[in-house]
Amino acid sequence: MHKDFNYRDKIPVAVLGATGNVGQKFVELLASHPWFELTAVAASDKSVGRPYREAVNWIMSTPLPKEIGDLQVQACKPGLPAQLIFSALDSSVAGEIEIQFAQAGNVVLSNASNHRQDADVPLLVPEVNSDHLQLLDQIKKEHKGCIVTNPNCVVVALVMALKPLVQNFGVEAMRVVTMQAVSGAGYPGVPSLDILDNVIPYIANEEEKVATEPLKILGNVEQQQIKPYSMKISAQCNRVPVTDGHMASLSIKLKGKTSLNEIKEMWRDFEGEPQLLDLPSAPKYPLVYFDEERYPQPKMHRQLGKGMSVALGRLKECPVLDYQFVLLSHNTIRGAAGSAILNAELMVKRGFIFW
Ligand code: NAP
Repeated sequence: MHKDFNYRDKIPVAVLGATGNVGQKFVELLASHPWFELTAVAASDKSVGRPYREAVNWIMSTPLPKEIGDLQVQACKPGLPAQLIFSALDSSVAGEIEIQFAQAGNVVLSNASNHRQDADVPLLVPEVNSDHLQLLDQIKKEHKGCIVTNPNCVVVALVMALKPLVQNFGVEAMRVVTMQAVSGAGYPGVPSLDILDNVIPYIANEEEKVATEPLKILGNVEQQQIKPYSMKISAQCNRVPVTDGHMASLSIKLKGKTSLNEIKEMWRDFEGEPQLLDLPSAPKYPLVYFDEERYPQPKMHRQLGKGMSVALGRLKECPVLDYQFVLLSHNTIRGAAGSAILNAELMVKRGFIFW
């Protein structure tokens, strides 16, 4: 952190892939952020050199602020006027571009999958594994650049719900079936004739991510390396005709004994470092359990905690594994831009950001 940072100054930040679905969510959330000021937007060659308002097909529900619309879209090359870089790049290009920025001294907060499994890259959910930032202790000391990634958009909510159970009992196995919104496929995404009146039981590479990312996130840091958590995961992912908000039905097998009430209580009491530090994007209640049998539902609950809370419901005993329940979270806020911003807020508090 800059020695003079007093939370009245704003930290300049840039967004790569600012014209896409997640990029626009970054722009929308950063427009009113108390610590960060958006100073640069970058995207592909087809957008470079144009005013952002012309290059983007703005699909957010709030109006595009004039001063951001006036920014000229820049190329995704190091040298942007910000140390802190949010990446919403397509994974076909994110890998190399993010490395270039990190090597140039930038702190890159990425949504892309390319570096999530790199040994020296924290796969961060601040309420769950903020201790994984210690992988970057040396980089912080030397004021070097680095990459920190968000998990896959469904995985964020899964690990938040699992964390108190892992901590208190251990989780042996999980079977998860997802129902994922169309905005998860980016813009313009899935053709309307494919998804209207339909459910598609396949999302490319998604099941592999859901089956592996939780193990890294729930793992422990031992001698500056992450020892993955040991748990069997079976995942099946579906695309459904919902605009925003990914749902998942889960069954879990625990290592210890508990009760329905005890699990609900743990979820209701759950909090992490973002709540303790009162970070600007931290929801007061990261997990919200509903006793109503019809809840949670995407249309009603995806904006809980400004899109940063995970909604839970339908907890009951499972005749095959131990317990089953349903969860829901906003895929472009908690599942993407909102989480990356929360990661950045934590890193500011932990002294990673210089400008
Ligand atoms: P998207 O709508 O397709 O946007 C992709 C962005 O990448 C656009 O701004 C595009 O710029 C830019 N881009 C493409 N090719 C480029 C190139 N060669 N050089 C520079 N920029 C380039 O995708 P999205 O849904 O926002 O997803 C962005 C990333 O977040 C992906 O890696 C995705 O997997 C991840 N993610 C998405 C979600 C979600 O819910 N959607 C959730 C979690 C993570 P132009 O407009 O100029 O082409």
